[in-house]
Amino acid sequence: GRGVAVVTAVASRLALQRRQLEETLAPFRLHSQQLKAVQAQMRESMVRGLRGESSSIRMLPTYVCAMPDGTERGDFLALDLGGTNFRVLWVKVGSRSEEGIKIINRVFSLPESVTQGTGQQLFDHIVDCIVDFQKENNLSGQTLPLSFTFSFPCKQLGLDQGILLNWTKGFKASDCEGQDVVSLLRAAIRRRQGVELNVVAIVNDTVGTMMSCGYEDPHCEVGLIVGTGTNACYMEELGNVCAVPGDRGRMCINMEWGAFGDDGLALQEFYTPFDLSVDQASINPGKQRCRAREGGARRAGREDSDRRGWARGTSGCGWVGRGADGEGRAEAVANLGCPSYSLSARARYEKLISGMYLGEIVRQVLLHLTHLRVLFGGQEFPSLQTKDIIKTKFLSEIESDLERWQVRAILEKLDLQADCEDALLVREVCQAVSRRAAQLCGAGVAAVVEKIRENRGLDRLSVTVGVDGTLYKLHPHFSEQVKDAVRELAPQCCVRFLLSEDGSGKGAALVSAVACRLAGAAGP
Ligand code: BGC
Ligand code: MG
Repeated sequence: GRGVAVVTAVASRLALQRRQLEETLAPFRLHSQQLKAVQAQMRESMVRGLRGESSSIRMLPTYVCAMPDGTERGDFLALDLGGTNFRVLWVKVGSRSEEGIKIINRVFSLPESVTQGTGQQLFDHIVDCIVDFQKENNLSGQTLPLSFTFSFPCKQLGLDQGILLNWTKGFKASDCEGQDVVSLLRAAIRRRQGVELNVVAIVNDTVGTMMSCGYEDPHCEVGLIVGTGTNACYMEELGNVCAVPGDRGRMCINMEWGAFGDDGLALQEFYTPFDLSVDQASINPGKQRCRAREGGARRAGREDSDRRGWARGTSGCGWVGRGADGEGRAEAVANLGCPSYSLSARARYEKLISGMYLGEIVRQVLLHLTHLRVLFGGQEFPSLQTKDIIKTKFLSEIESDLERWQVRAILEKLDLQADCEDALLVREVCQAVSRRAAQLCGAGVAAVVEKIRENRGLDRLSVTVGVDGTLYKLHPHFSEQVKDAVRELAPQCCVRFLLSEDGSGKGAALVSAVACRLAGAAGP
């Protein structure tokens, strides 16, 4: 009698929860047709960007035209700005077979007052750090060739000239956009009298990554970063690069693919309301904002939630419910107030993929599931309201092969009291979000390697991708999922992924080293 009724009630409650979870996660599960479409759109945007036509991907020339050949020698300084920290490095390049490359480096913290202050403050801080580093290592007075790894979109006019197009990844220092970054650095050097530096190259981190892997593997012609941000570079035929005269040889192109879709012409159908919320709260949302709609989502979710779900349409993603007749007639209940172009015009692809945003997407989903009472018995933990509380490291931990109690312990660290069921659900959410990221990233890589293959008129291409970034390196499944997607989407390419060791340091120094070698060869 009563016992049976209780069991039935529990069973149907679980079934309902399962259905709600599935509905919530459905838009994150991409099938291969969708990934093929992303690949095709990426490819088209690449071509448009190379031709100088309007494109969300800028395809920036880097003036890096040659890979290391192993004969490079010398001592170099390198700066690495663009991740969580700032680093100064002393890189000694010796013979490949004997000394190899030795690095001494120091990490300097980057206070928010510096990343969000004025450009002058930022560059003065950088020069102060360099001076400290030189003193510590008895390098003062020497003017070693310097490579500046500056991991933001720059329009380069030469190896040592790069105009910052816009900040990404939470940087916001004023008066830098539109300026030549090397000039800003040189001006800061002048302000700090008695210092001399010889800036040879400005280097994107993808390019450094490609170069550092190219030192080991001559097939390395692609650089990929999936960390705080995401981006790729590759060797393109100079003849295809309209911005640079000449049609012989190749040049490395910094794709700046994080901006893919910023023109609203790609990726539209993938955005979930969770992505939109994350975008709104980010430091660089675009002009086309939509106002906080979370309240609406919550309300819609609470009433009658079992008959509602996320739905995707040509106009984006919306929260829809079924008609009262129960025939599945979708009717927009609350599309969260977002018009179709509501994701900001900044870093759309990056916001679906990179470490800076994945934790926030997960948090938005968890909040939603809490409101639906699918998670945590509906209890709204304050920590879950805290922006950026979920780091990439958390996703990596939670998705590794753990017992439920271990997952619970991880959640406990974030002040989330989860039971075993909750722990599993949270893990499923993380899996869905990171898997989508890996697959989208794989679609991008597939577009790149296929382009290289077609450029060379080959039936089959063997190519190596040098990779760096915490998400790629530390997440237990991300790299495999990227590889799976590339295998499926670029079947004519045999792609090796090689982890880069300190591309931003070693690889950047190699850019200067190769430049010095070529300058030497050209002779006086
Ligand atoms: C920047 C790129 C960089 C990437 C990875 C993006 O936000 O725009 O220049 O390569 O992050 O660090
Ligand atoms: Mg970096």
